[in-house]
Amino acid sequence: MPRYFIWTIGCQMNKAESRQIGGYLDSAGYQAATSFSCADLVVLNTCVVRQNAEDKVLGTLGLLRGLKSKRPDLQILVTGCFVNSHTQELQRRFPHVDLLFKPGDYTELVAWGQKQGIPIEQNLPRQAHNDVRTVASPCTLVPVIQGCDNFCSYCIVPYRRGREVSRPTEEIACEVRELAKRGTKEVTLVGQNVDSYGHDLPGHPDLADLLSELSSIDDLARIRFLTNHPKDMSRKLIETMASLDKVCEHLELPVQSGDNEILKAMRRGYTVERYRELVHTMRGKIPHISLSTDIIVAFPGETEEQFARSLSLVEEMRFDVVHVAAYSPRPGTIACQEYQDDIPAEVKKGRLNKIEGLQTIMASEINSQLQGKEAEVLVEGKKGGKWFGRTRSNKLVFFEDADDWLGQSVRVRIEKTSPWSLRGQIKV
Ligand code: SAM
Ligand code: SF4
Repeated sequence: MPRYFIWTIGCQMNKAESRQIGGYLDSAGYQAATSFSCADLVVLNTCVVRQNAEDKVLGTLGLLRGLKSKRPDLQILVTGCFVNSHTQELQRRFPHVDLLFKPGDYTELVAWGQKQGIPIEQNLPRQAHNDVRTVASPCTLVPVIQGCDNFCSYCIVPYRRGREVSRPTEEIACEVRELAKRGTKEVTLVGQNVDSYGHDLPGHPDLADLLSELSSIDDLARIRFLTNHPKDMSRKLIETMASLDKVCEHLELPVQSGDNEILKAMRRGYTVERYRELVHTMRGKIPHISLSTDIIVAFPGETEEQFARSLSLVEEMRFDVVHVAAYSPRPGTIACQEYQDDIPAEVKKGRLNKIEGLQTIMASEINSQLQGKEAEVLVEGKKGGKWFGRTRSNKLVFFEDADDWLGQSVRVRIEKTSPWSLRGQIKV
């Protein structure tokens, strides 16, 4: 059997799409391999949101150039946000690549497969996108909306993924029903801007409607969704989250900055006051909701005072998780054209470290409150001899036990906490 290896970096959308690509290759009789060296076909699912991600992609393409010179039969496919609309130019720069295809554009993958005599199932029903021949994993990512209409000034995504296109509700429901039949207990609905789901569909169903629809699937226990844009979080969505038992008390709500002038230059479409009000409403309706956010430090022109506002917002909001990144100019974006990347590298690093340091203290305090408590954990797998899974509030929990708990919901008594994960004993 020929083998494939998919290398993925970047956001959850990329992870979800890699799973779908794996489904297509499974349908052609390929088997998953564990590394480049034992694969006949490799797929790079790429990210260029920041320069360091793009550097990793370029490094891996270099490595594959060497591999291909030794094994000319190796087939190399590249997708993700590295693929821009100038594919011919990319093809000239990377002649060892066999196919470049836009993120989510599987028609190109199927057409290429046909030309190569690889029998990728042409009409793989969209509901069976997932690992068609295998048992589904307990927790699965399901893409529900492609692209982004927002054009935040720093972000390359809308230029690479195009405008928002939602999948029809019934198609998603079919896919999730199929996944649940094959063992998935938890789905995470993904989109760059998931809370704008449905505006482009007939009848304009929204994310709240989709959550209600999926909640009625019997074998499904949990639903999450990410990433949300604060300007699109509606009251109806918050109320639906609060009322549906299967929807987890967990939300990814990137704020990006604690300063209104910077938010305006970022073209985010909300103010710090509006964000604060949103979090307040959410915590009022869903008292134990766990909140994650993203912050960019050192956006062009960010002063020490403006940075201090981001720092104090982190302290005030008590987020469970903060993903922090230093601004990275992306050619073609509005910020890259209009502003100079004027903050020295060491200042950027210092600001990043300050947010990370503060968040470590906050998360350590928040998590320590779980010590001695019992948590419901959905077991996702085993690592280093320990079972691991997540609570409804997305806390990572490890425990040791000789029995097989994969895919089961178990009660765990938390004995040790850290800012990043929890450890405990299973209660049987
Ligand atoms: N759609 C989501 C949102 O509205 O926040 C996030 C998607 S974006 C691809 C993921 C994260 O990457 C963003 O939240 C932002 O913090 C970060 N990011 C995007 N562009 C960046 C840039 N040019 N420099 C640094 N970080 C960036
Ligand atoms: Fe990028 Fe903004 Fe779209 Fe998120 S909402 S993907 S940050 S443009």
